[in-house]
Amino acid sequence: ELQSIKGDISFRDVVFEYEKNRPALKGVSLEVKAGQTIALVGHTGSGKSTFINLLCRFYDPVGGQVAIDGTDIRDVTIQSLRSQVGIVLQDTFIFSGTIRDNIRFGKLDATNAEIEEAAKAVGAHEFIVNLPNGYDTQVEERGNVLSMGQRQLLSFARALLADPRVLILDEATASIDTETEAKIQEALKKLLHGRTSFIIAHRLSTIRNADQIVVLDHGSIVEQGDHDELMRL
Ligand code: ATP
Ligand code: MG
Repeated sequence: ELQSIKGDISFRDVVFEYEKNRPALKGVSLEVKAGQTIALVGHTGSGKSTFINLLCRFYDPVGGQVAIDGTDIRDVTIQSLRSQVGIVLQDTFIFSGTIRDNIRFGKLDATNAEIEEAAKAVGAHEFIVNLPNGYDTQVEERGNVLSMGQRQLLSFARALLADPRVLILDEATASIDTETEAKIQEALKKLLHGRTSFIIAHRLSTIRNADQIVVLDHGSIVEQGDHDELMRL
């Protein structure tokens, strides 16, 4: 059982293959201190999603170990792992229901006040109250009531409400206008504060703000450091 974890994460010589003898990660080691933001970058097929898959225990490594606060994640229940490791996916998922329900999904027993507090914190409250029925506005999974940027802000509110110690974020690649972009960066800052975060990063601003940038290539870490350090190479 994982209770009040700090959020130190370590990958120790992690090897993984989806298919025999075709390693997708070839001995990856990384130490992350609680509270740090890590930007994962690399070409398509370099192993970014695989790294995340192992951290979420969608798969187990074939070699090495992934640990949270020094405990191998294979030794904790999936349920407690999932309660401490939150994930915001690129196609920020919206389900059919009200805006309120969509945010509440982060914490099913959340009060209306908590839901609005989370929405305010990420700057989503403003657009929500301007919808025809505010928080009670019905949205559809593939509907177009919400813009891409608004979907992202909603998913941030949901994650903030869930308040996991470790947050994984697959940054959206969709192009959005600069005003929304600025809002999202502001919201991201709030969301990342005080938790260990791994971002599959596509935006330069996100990469620049990360404590560590980890560059993957063909399943190995080929560069590592903060933005200034990497610029000096
Ligand atoms: P992208 O930027 O395209 O999302 P990525 O860095 O996330 O790429 P991964 O998805 O981690 O890359 O893929 C790493 C390697 O593992 C690739 O060679 C890929 O083809 C392979 N791979 C990924 N998922 C599977 C799978 N489910 N079954 C078999 N091979 C897979
Ligand atoms: Mg991927």
